[in-house]
Parts: sequence; C-alpha cells; structure tokens
Amino acid sequence: MARQLRKPLPCAQCNARCCRYMALKVATPQTEDDYEDMRWYLLHQGVRALVDPEGIWYLSFDNPCERIGKDGKCLQYENRPQICRDYPRKDDPCESTGTLFVHTFHTPEELDAWLRQEQATVSP
Ligand code: SF4
Ligand code: SF4
Repeated sequence: MARQLRKPLPCAQCNARCCRYMALKVATPQTEDDYEDMRWYLLHQGVRALVDPEGIWYLSFDNPCERIGKDGKCLQYENRPQICRDYPRKDDPCESTGTLFVHTFHTPEELDAWLRQEQATVSP
C-alpha cells in the first residue's frame, strides 16, 4: 500500500494559534472540592479548562509566546524548544482543526452547565 503523505499544516493562515497559549495537564476533577478549585481557576483572566478526546484535563493560559513574529512566524524557528518541534505528534490534529479538545470551559458557569448535563445523563 502506498504510504500516505501527511497533509501540510495551514500554519501560514492560522496566525500561530498553537503558540498563543500554554496548557498544563491537571488531575481529572473528581470531588466537589476539585470542582471548586476548578471554578476558582476559571475566575482568572485568560484561564481555560480543556478536556481532550481521551478525557485528560488541562489548564490553559492565554499568554502568547514572546517569540511570535509580527507575521505570525516563529522568530527562533531553527532554535525552537523541543515541545514546539514535536507538535503536533504523528497524525494528531493541531489547534487549527478545532478538534483538539472536546470541552473548553472559560467560566465557572460553563463548567457548571456541563456538570449539570453530565449529572442529568447519569441519573435514572
Ligand atoms: S495551530 Fe497548527 S496550523 Fe496553526 S501554527 Fe500551529 S501547527 Fe500550524
Ligand atoms: S518558540 Fe516559536 S514555535 Fe515555539 S511557541 Fe514560541 S513562537 Fe511558537
């Protein structure tokens, strides 16, 4: 079978979406205390909670990398950190597809609305 060539990324058009925030993996909230902490995180400007298709939770901070040029290109491309070189991994989608995360919460209210929905689907 012919090897499938990976589709080129539309980096020139997306204005470096993946370089405009950083996300840290966090423990999946399980208790009311965990959700209470999450609500507090979400009260801060530029903080989002993200959940990927595997159910892994992240806290994301909208703080653009200082090395994005005015044209959206990396100013230190040849010398960029390894995490930038590795992204996106293999055939994973990148930020430009809008499919990287299944949930994005910007506010405690968005989180609570989702929680109510979740509880309604598990309740008999
Ligand atoms: S989000 Fe995807 S398309 Fe956009 S700059 Fe990053 S890798 Fe390129
Ligand atoms: S170092 Fe370059 S590739 Fe990495 S996040 Fe910053 S602008 Fe993007």
